[in-house]
Amino acid sequence: MAHASSLLSRSAKRGESSAIRDLLAQAKRPGMISLAGGLPDASLFPLDQLAEVTDRLIRTHGRTTLQYGLTSGDIHARQALTSLFDDVVDPEELVVTTGSQQGLDLLARVLFDHDDVLVCADPDYVGGLQAFRSHGARPHPVRTTSQGLDTVQLQDALRRGLRPKACYLVPHFHNPTGARMPTDAREHLAELSSHYGFVLIEDDPYRQLFYDGQEPQEVVLDPQLHVRLRSVSKVLAPGLRVGVVHAPLPLRDAIVSAKQSTDLHTSSLTQQIAATAIATDWFAEHVGHLRANYGVRRDVLCSALTRTFGTQARFATPDGGMFIWLEELAGVETSALLNQALLQDVCFVPGAAFAVDGDFRGALRLNFTNSSEDDLREGVARLARAVEACAPVTAPVG
Ligand code: PMP
Repeated sequence: MAHASSLLSRSAKRGESSAIRDLLAQAKRPGMISLAGGLPDASLFPLDQLAEVTDRLIRTHGRTTLQYGLTSGDIHARQALTSLFDDVVDPEELVVTTGSQQGLDLLARVLFDHDDVLVCADPDYVGGLQAFRSHGARPHPVRTTSQGLDTVQLQDALRRGLRPKACYLVPHFHNPTGARMPTDAREHLAELSSHYGFVLIEDDPYRQLFYDGQEPQEVVLDPQLHVRLRSVSKVLAPGLRVGVVHAPLPLRDAIVSAKQSTDLHTSSLTQQIAATAIATDWFAEHVGHLRANYGVRRDVLCSALTRTFGTQARFATPDGGMFIWLEELAGVETSALLNQALLQDVCFVPGAAFAVDGDFRGALRLNFTNSSEDDLREGVARLARAVEACAPVTAPVG
């Protein structure tokens, strides 16, 4: 008798379950301090304000907010969502998506044929890689430092004949490395995109969460080749599942067609909630509050790591986002460390989960936005006990 798994399509067989999603199941165990997921702190969700907005939307516009809507998104919602961009954006070029994750998946669907090349960082955001790979893209990793993707290395590869269809970039407070790409490097990447004719996909969900330095700036890129994704997940609530894609019209139209067969449209209600919320007076204050709060937690985690591990913890302090990327921790292999850490009721994501090609067996990602300051300190103490229980590998890793 045929087994269902033998009937799966090639793309379904290519799909892998994310190591992070699997880990999150363990992270829910009572007593566990999870530094693993990329979750915002639910205790900071603006519940009263969202309840008020939702109540008002249903009572005054319930006949439209609970009705089927346009695939590209409600026009008023799109107009309000333009405020997620610093420059003037035509709402006609926007598509409201079910989280920016859906934007990545739709882009993958409309851009890639089997084996088309996608330039990406290494390590890189697992959900993006999964979406691109499942639609046949072949990732071409480029060396990545605390300054982000190395555009000089990319330029060399392009000169030697690399012909990518697209480049995937998380320009600010990258997941997992926390890197913020300097403006001149982004401009260099834009020149390369124009010169060699590949799409630049800028996925920027963390841009409002900056703790030091200047607020992230838009870089003017080739409007025919530049796609930008934004999300309310990190600054409002991820459960709303509202993101937005800004793309040149031919690409935007292809995304709308692909979305039509996926889910007809993003929830009429939640897109209106998100759009109304970000246009209110309290939103900027709320984001300021998140920044102040998360900035302190970042400092607490970085200090605890330095105090506990000294130079054995190799990391750069990120100036925004949600993660600390440890390139190395006492020379241990971090998948083995995770087993010990789970015994100590603390968890994190081993670096290998984000690898495209590189060896990140000695690296790990820690999240600082979803634990209290006390839990961050206690989490590091537990991590230290796990490191002690874990014999260092003999060969250097990472
Ligand atoms: N891009 C990046 C870089 C992310 O880290 C995430 C979520 N962790 C997403 C996209 C997806 O976010 P959402 O679908 O909630 O907007």
